[in-house]
Amino acid sequence: MTAKALITLLAALCCAQAVFSVRVISRAEWGGRQPTNRVWLNNYLSYAVIHHTAGAYCSTQASCAQQMRNIQSYHMDSLGWPDIGYNFLIGGDGQVYEGRGWNSMGAHASNWNGISIGISFMGNYNNDRPTAAQIAAAKGILADAVARGQISSGYILYGHRQVGATECPGNNLFAEIRSWPHFRG
Ligand SMILES: [Zn+2]
Repeated sequence: MTAKALITLLAALCCAQAVFSVRVISRAEWGGRQPTNRVWLNNYLSYAVIHHTAGAYCSTQASCAQQMRNIQSYHMDSLGWPDIGYNFLIGGDGQVYEGRGWNSMGAHASNWNGISIGISFMGNYNNDRPTAAQIAAAKGILADAVARGQISSGYILYGHRQVGATECPGNNLFAEIRSWPHFRG
């Protein structure tokens, strides 16, 4: 191998690894229904909002998938929304679950849905505590959101309680996100 070929190979290895990407459990994988409507969400948004579902905690992919179906049914059948409210959710199993996904406006924070993405931790974080795996998953999907231009590189991170009258995302999760680099107090 020539020096030039070696440098090319090393550059390819470097940059393949530099593209950070977390695995997302797709709607098909968790057994979700299709949305009845979608509203386009712009790129380069200035905000991300962290939530908790204030519902059941789950610690396996099977139980988190069931919880995703429960939340989606509640949002669609009881609240009459076109889909599960959040863009992405974080399971207690440390995995990211697809909600409305990319470029689809959520229903998670009144007046903020069109200017932010909403990421929700499954569980009630007044009692539950976010694990290292969950924190890494959330930071991973936020990094991906920047990498793909869904949110701007200088985005501001808020807990839901900062933009609405709610306890969300629970005291334990709110205490955690206060140390994240994009958090704005
Ligand atoms: Zn919330």
